Amino acid sequence: MESIRKAAIIGAGTMGAAIAAQFANAGVPVLLLDIVKEGTPNRNALAEGAIAKMLKTDPAPFMSSRAAKLVTPGNLEDDLAQLASCDWIVEAIIERLDLKQALYKKIDAVRKPGSAVSSNTSTIPLAKLTEGMPESFKRDFLITHFFNPPRYMRLLELVSGPETDAKLAQAVARFADLMLGKSVVSAKDSPGFIANRLGVFWLQTGVVEAMELGLTVEEADAIMSRPFGIPKTGVFGLIDLVGLDLMPHINASLAGSLPKSDAFHATNKDIPLIKTMIAEGNIGRKGKGGFYRKGAKGREAIDLASGAYRPVRKAATPDGRDLRKLLENSAYAWRVMGPTLAYAASLLPEAADDVHAIDEAMRLGYNWKLGPFELIDKIGADWLAEKLAKDGMKLPALLDAARGQSFYKLDGAKRLYLGLDDAYHELHRPEGVLMLEDIKRATKPLLKNASASLWDIGNGVLCFELTSKSNSWDAQNLELLGKAIELVPQNHKALVIYNEGAHFSVGANLGLALFAANIAAWGEIEKLVASGQKTFKALKYAPFPSVAAPFGMALGGGCEIVLHASAVQAHAETYIGLVECGVGLVPAWGGCTEMLARYQGAKTMPKGPMPAAAKVFEMVSTATVSKSAANAKELLFLREGDGITMNRYRLLADAKAKALTLVEAYAAPEPPTYQLPGEDGRVGFGMAVKEFRKKGLATPYDEVVAGELATVLSGGEADIIDRPSEADILALERGAFTRLIRKDGTLARIETMLTTGKPLRN
Ligand code: NAD
Repeated sequence: MESIRKAAIIGAGTMGAAIAAQFANAGVPVLLLDIVKEGTPNRNALAEGAIAKMLKTDPAPFMSSRAAKLVTPGNLEDDLAQLASCDWIVEAIIERLDLKQALYKKIDAVRKPGSAVSSNTSTIPLAKLTEGMPESFKRDFLITHFFNPPRYMRLLELVSGPETDAKLAQAVARFADLMLGKSVVSAKDSPGFIANRLGVFWLQTGVVEAMELGLTVEEADAIMSRPFGIPKTGVFGLIDLVGLDLMPHINASLAGSLPKSDAFHATNKDIPLIKTMIAEGNIGRKGKGGFYRKGAKGREAIDLASGAYRPVRKAATPDGRDLRKLLENSAYAWRVMGPTLAYAASLLPEAADDVHAIDEAMRLGYNWKLGPFELIDKIGADWLAEKLAKDGMKLPALLDAARGQSFYKLDGAKRLYLGLDDAYHELHRPEGVLMLEDIKRATKPLLKNASASLWDIGNGVLCFELTSKSNSWDAQNLELLGKAIELVPQNHKALVIYNEGAHFSVGANLGLALFAANIAAWGEIEKLVASGQKTFKALKYAPFPSVAAPFGMALGGGCEIVLHASAVQAHAETYIGLVECGVGLVPAWGGCTEMLARYQGAKTMPKGPMPAAAKVFEMVSTATVSKSAANAKELLFLREGDGITMNRYRLLADAKAKALTLVEAYAAPEPPTYQLPGEDGRVGFGMAVKEFRKKGLATPYDEVVAGELATVLSGGEADIIDRPSEADILALERGAFTRLIRKDGTLARIETMLTTGKPLRN
């Protein structure tokens, strides 16, 4: 198999359909086949229905409407022969060995030699799946275990059999990494592979111990989440999300295939409450409710002893800074995490080759911040081993061997992990991956203050990194960016704007803005607005190219810096937008100037001053945020030539490469010329907002904010014949912003956003 140009997914259920969508998101045409449903005239009803359903699903499996068109629905009776044109065929049908085997025979009869065939099975060993199949099939077969939902979960467990062609497995892994954006972890052909083997043990123990200790679900979830760097769903919330109905199947499958000596059997107790809940349809979020549910008067939780629902009782989240103390003081923390960490150590070498594979699987498959071995390092292997021994628990050999040392350590800038041979080995990044984290360990910043740093990432490229809370913008990081812009031309060629936080940037630091407003430090606020404009425009007109590399949220000021870079290399999961109106403000760091210029220059826009301004007005007044990088292109937050990286780990390398391609022919852009609709436009926008108010879609204060936005986007007092300059529009941005920040309605919005994280609809 040379490369994967076309793929087929068989089984258009929860997983198959969404896996097909991810191939389409990568720009690869994909055939989606299912069985012919009896009694329906449309023979493609299942696959077509699955695509239609995905177009309405939120969070969306497709990154753009264009992607959806790359999926061709079909059925296994009429379209089987089309498999001959596919380079990779993924089987994602129901979890039944006999059906999967029968399907493989059909596939093998038509597929082209050397095409990859893989199963998405969660529980069936590869050895069983390929039993009785010809050698040629076994060579091309592997397990590729995606996690649900496949677009958003970054883990892909890959299992090769003894006969699998290594080159083919490598080609599949490379495609999954570069094109599907997955972090590929090699797993052994053992029950549940890695993440579910450990994850299910943890969940099951979490339920059993909460019941035995008489905890409420809220108490249990408060302990088994944030303090350990685990998502706030904890144990019970996660089971609700996955579906209670899946638990007995997965548990039975694991129990049936694990050796008698496995620690899972001891915790795999029957839980009558779960049986009752399933029987009553309380199977979690996809059912009527689960351990938690929406009641008539608000959120409710189930009482684990009686099985009756009652209002949710908020439980205190314990401090997780000192995990030893938590494990000493909370019986639940210890009785769940002690055995889980010991179990993790017992899975080597049976389920994985090294500790890093297990850590990566739990980080990306269960969204743990730290994998189990990273957690053990935090707690101390000696301490953990002692405590397990004191409790009479069997000590896994690996944990015993780790006494007196840690699973990971640094050797200069190199990261080492403890191998099963009791020696340390270097942890290598996949080829072509560049992480700022590694550069930061190996070098010193060129510039640094409390909110930002500037790094040399090699080949003449510097990297500006925000380091403030949630990567928000403040006077200090603006100042450092200004210095960076002066520094680059002295000895370097280009600047990349990038960081490795949870999100690229949430925008201006609203806490500081509110504080300044409360003490009426208007001068400070005006200075900050002006300095943001000046710095971002300095970036735009600098004599060297800059590349912004956003990922996750890039909101407000986080969006504006992206708009001012020479080019963008965005992670596929980039949620970018000008959301200032939500907090009662307008974009005032050049967001309006840039979006106006983009819409005025867009080929698809009708000519004349009104359409572009109206489009920007609509987007900004409704705080539109892209649902992906591909969607950001549709919204013009990104330009046609901007790049998209599917794998988060590859973003910095791609951004750097993009910057270097720009260097040679680089010339700073010419300032755009504007034509704005003037007074007529302002009146038109105002009428549109009034309509929204009548329909109940806009609030009274929305009208105030939209009025200020309309002033900026229509060109203020300017007449239509006037051609405002960029500087004129920047002045309008500043004026509108400084008027709004003085208003109580705006301050109330900011305060609510800061305290609840949600917009106030005043
Ligand atoms: P599902 O029940 O949602 O979908 C299964 C699909 O297979 C259905 O559309 C069904 O019509 C089709 N199908 C049934 N028999 C078939 C046959 N003989 N030939 C062709 N198609 C047939 O199941 P799912 O949750 O999408 O799971 C699919 C596979 O993925 C299973 O192997 C499962 O273990 C695995 N998996 C599931 C998850 C998950 O969270 N749901 C996660 C990882 C892996």
